[in-house]
Amino acid sequence: MPLYNDQTLRIYNSLSGEKEVFKPISDGYVGMYVCGPTVYSNVHLGNVRTFMSFDMIFRYFKHLGYKVRYVRNITDAGHLENDGDVGEDKITKKAKLEAIEPMEIVQRYTVDFHNVLNTFNFLPPSIEPTATGHIIEQIELIETIIENGFAYVTNGSVYFDVHKYNTSNTYGILSKRKLEDLIHNTRSLDGQSDKKNPQDFALWKKAEPTHIMRWPSPWSDGFPGWHLECTAMSTKYLGERFDIHGGGMDLKFPHHECEIAQNQAAKGKDPVKYWMHANMLELNGARMSKSTGNYINPAELLSGDNDKMSKGYNPMVVRFFMMQASYKSILDLTDAGLKAAEKGFNRLMDSINLIEKLKTSDYTSSFDVNVWKQKCYDAMNDDFNTPILIATLFDAAKFINQVKDESASITKEDLELLKQTIETFTFDILGLVNVSKENFGTDKLSGAVEILINLRKEARLNKDFALSDKIRDELAEVGIQLNDSREGTTFTTN
Ligand code: AMP
Ligand code: ZN
Repeated sequence: MPLYNDQTLRIYNSLSGEKEVFKPISDGYVGMYVCGPTVYSNVHLGNVRTFMSFDMIFRYFKHLGYKVRYVRNITDAGHLENDGDVGEDKITKKAKLEAIEPMEIVQRYTVDFHNVLNTFNFLPPSIEPTATGHIIEQIELIETIIENGFAYVTNGSVYFDVHKYNTSNTYGILSKRKLEDLIHNTRSLDGQSDKKNPQDFALWKKAEPTHIMRWPSPWSDGFPGWHLECTAMSTKYLGERFDIHGGGMDLKFPHHECEIAQNQAAKGKDPVKYWMHANMLELNGARMSKSTGNYINPAELLSGDNDKMSKGYNPMVVRFFMMQASYKSILDLTDAGLKAAEKGFNRLMDSINLIEKLKTSDYTSSFDVNVWKQKCYDAMNDDFNTPILIATLFDAAKFINQVKDESASITKEDLELLKQTIETFTFDILGLVNVSKENFGTDKLSGAVEILINLRKEARLNKDFALSDKIRDELAEVGIQLNDSREGTTFTTN
């Protein structure tokens, strides 16, 4: 029996604005599409946060026993500067600056993207298709939309007729925008004169002579519009209607709105059952973004080589930091926040490392492991509430420390269940890696420091505070910090 039969998962659907019980279109299968990066520069941590949210969601679906097909694309053509229909292709622009081929830019930043995600322990998606690998599918889609009367050709370019579409459909259904308001708020821009209305968007653009990335089509040598690739690739790999479509909040309009319109116009179907939008990462109170310069690259954060943080942080501390917030909340990346996350992460790892050393007894006191286990599921079932999950994991961490101090007891069976559950949620679902264990968990340093921690505890019990302070200070001198908390003493190294 797969686990999903026992759990009721609720997902906040941006389309309905409500938490809904998750019921896949096909029993036992989940199809999920997430808009991937435009590979024209290094990924920043804001991008990482969005993809990490969906990595955690992918992991939980898999854990529940679903067969998941997770498609995350690579945008390697058609995404113009300013996200609009005029201007230069982001990738071509960078290629010209560096006097290299656009595909060299694509290769460089795709490799960077994969390296960064590996550092943060992401699972690879099931399929990672590229826009340039699906030009034929995109042309076919445009032909169908034209046949169905929702697009028109002007000077070799093809535009989606938003006004015509809106007579029989609702443009703005996802972003809750009204076409009348959009008309009111948009001014006709130079260079958009090919369009019947400024709200129309490009499905195919005729390439200027200087535009390098171009393909033949029935209308012109040109390139597809940005929104089209996701419709072509999601339909190809997940079908005309699939379970989940995700992306950053900033993609809701116009990108996702246009995806819905394209699907409806081509196939007459609403493509997505649950729309999920991850919220933005900020840096010191302002939205992290390449264009404003308020960003920090993963490598700079990890090495400490930046002017915004006091030191470098382990990638698992960063992952823990991000998982401490709900994917739907804005999260502000700060040095203080990361420092607190480092403490929390180390405390959780120390507790997990302790489990193997615990003594068991005939009964379990003051902690019901089965109730606690279901609380972990309840947190995740409530729209992937990772902050509540982490708080629940700390309930177990506290209990583990009590057992260690012999102020509580646990049976062998309960200890086995606790160990298995805490490890599943921490490593398989949150995607954390036990770095403390990797580095020194079971090795000699850990053992030696543990001995000193116990000696210091004895000294304090004997009110020999001079000795206790000496142990702490001398360890600090060699780079080992002792951290005292209600649950006991742990250590960190630098
Ligand atoms: P892009 O490469 O600009 O198309 O962005 C890739 C993904 O990162 C999209 O899903 C964006 O919504 C997301 N993204 C961009 N900036 C941020 C940010 N500051 N916080 C979270 N996600 C972001
Ligand atoms: Zn997309």
